[in-house]
Amino acid sequence: MIVVLLGPPGAGKGTQANILCKSKELFHFSTGDILRDEIKKKSEIGQKIESIINAGKLVGDEIIIKIVEKILSEELSRNKGILFDGFPRNVDQARGFEELLKKKKQKIDCVIHILIDEEEIIKRIQKRQSEENRDDDNVDVLKSRLDVYLKETTPLIDLYKKNNILKTLDGMQAIESVSNDMSKSIDEI
Ligand code: ADP
Repeated sequence: MIVVLLGPPGAGKGTQANILCKSKELFHFSTGDILRDEIKKKSEIGQKIESIINAGKLVGDEIIIKIVEKILSEELSRNKGILFDGFPRNVDQARGFEELLKKKKQKIDCVIHILIDEEEIIKRIQKRQSEENRDDDNVDVLKSRLDVYLKETTPLIDLYKKNNILKTLDGMQAIESVSNDMSKSIDEI
């Protein structure tokens, strides 16, 4: 099973992905976590992408697609499925993803779109900044991340709506309510 989580920064994708992956035995694939890990390790990729992430911009598609290809090969057979958190993030990545999945005789089963308003996003990111100390969690960088989301990522909402695989959920609810909604969406697949 292939599930994609779509939503702006602060929508709760990571939190929900953690809950859902445990209950549904899915592999949690977070591009953000993998990229931050590369920075921490000071790997070749990490050095290339640090300033991009800290400016709130998107890392190049080529790097991302390579990471996705590796994860698909390693994790598909080991798990009931994969939950993609933070990928795809633009139309080119969506196209690249489709090709990779076709090669593996797979398709996206469900895209869960978490809806949340801007005021709440700012509140949550400020809270996370004080808890996790991520370099990209400050109001200036957040503006750029939101901008990128609106310009690059939201076109995917229409794309997946047309394919009839999009489910939109209210991300302003309590964590457990969002998880329940997500769980139901997955059970309906
Ligand atoms: P959030 O969704 O809260 O912004 P993420 O952890 O998903 O946080 O992403 C953090 C940063 O990692 C992004 O702002 C971007 O720089 C980079 N990133 C994550 N996923 C991708 C992707 N699929 N393509 C390009 N860059 C990405």
